[in-house]
Amino acid sequence: ERKAALSASTGPGQTSDGHKVPLLANIGGPADVPAAVEMGAEGIGLFRTEFLFLDDSKQAPTEEAQVQAYRKVLEAFPEGRVVVRVLDAGADKPLDFLTPGDEPNPALGVRGLRSLLEHPEVLQSQLRALARAAAGLPVYLEVMAPMVADRTDARAFADACREAGLSAKFGAMVEIPSAALRARSILKEVEFLSLGTNDLAQYTFAADRQVGAVARLQDPWQPALLDLIALSAEAAGATGKSCGVCGEAAADPVLACVLTGLGVTSLSMGAASIPYVRATLAKYTLAQCQRAAAAARATDTADEARAAANQVLSGE
Ligand code: PEP
Ligand code: MG
Repeated sequence: ERKAALSASTGPGQTSDGHKVPLLANIGGPADVPAAVEMGAEGIGLFRTEFLFLDDSKQAPTEEAQVQAYRKVLEAFPEGRVVVRVLDAGADKPLDFLTPGDEPNPALGVRGLRSLLEHPEVLQSQLRALARAAAGLPVYLEVMAPMVADRTDARAFADACREAGLSAKFGAMVEIPSAALRARSILKEVEFLSLGTNDLAQYTFAADRQVGAVARLQDPWQPALLDLIALSAEAAGATGKSCGVCGEAAADPVLACVLTGLGVTSLSMGAASIPYVRATLAKYTLAQCQRAAAAARATDTADEARAAANQVLSGE
């Protein structure tokens, strides 16, 4: 089965009736690029830049060191799309130079975009490094902010991108329920959305992503999570903007079909999952994906949602 999936791993991600859903890779740095290329990734949908700095989290990396790292990734996808996330420090990814060490609830504290807005010089240096790395390359650079809560956050990030002279598209991650509920407001400030379903599940269900005892609530098939994804995708669709998924949800081949049915426009995942998602998506029409999505949302539990989608797709 693995062989069959791999042999179907060429060409763009699409449904059987040709609805395109670009399949992109999640990476933590240049070392992850060869696997992404080998698995046929059409680009990078999530470059977790904080991973470049976890080794030496005492100080901010130099702008020059960042330019080198970003350029290596951008050069690997000529003509392709590369979505870079600015530093998402805090909670499960602490960086000493950005993360306050004395918060009672780090996941609810100054993390992600919040810490960058408190350290504008770090954000500006990263955005300038990205602009320099992309200069002269034919790549479609997109830059996004983690942990955007509302329109005020989105505007602050957009202003920072403009101040740095970045000519990339800029977007917001939807990881907090408030952002999904008011995706339309956020889209007044940015050009695309990307759903971080790991954190979106964590904050929707008040279930720490690092605590195994609450894993049931982190199940990406939870209908409440599907509802928030649908809201975000509909808001983006209404304004002609894109709305991808870059959380673990995108790596489940059947869920990938459901996400497509909900209106998600691209899927980004660990490279190893790309062939399986590509092969599964290619078996169904967009209309089947939409019916599977509607059936999943009509249920009340993650298990029921999974079963309902599978039933629709297997034609029972
Ligand atoms: C997410 O939260 O789903 C996400 C993609 O970001 P990270 O896992 O790096 O927090
Ligand atoms: Mg996240």
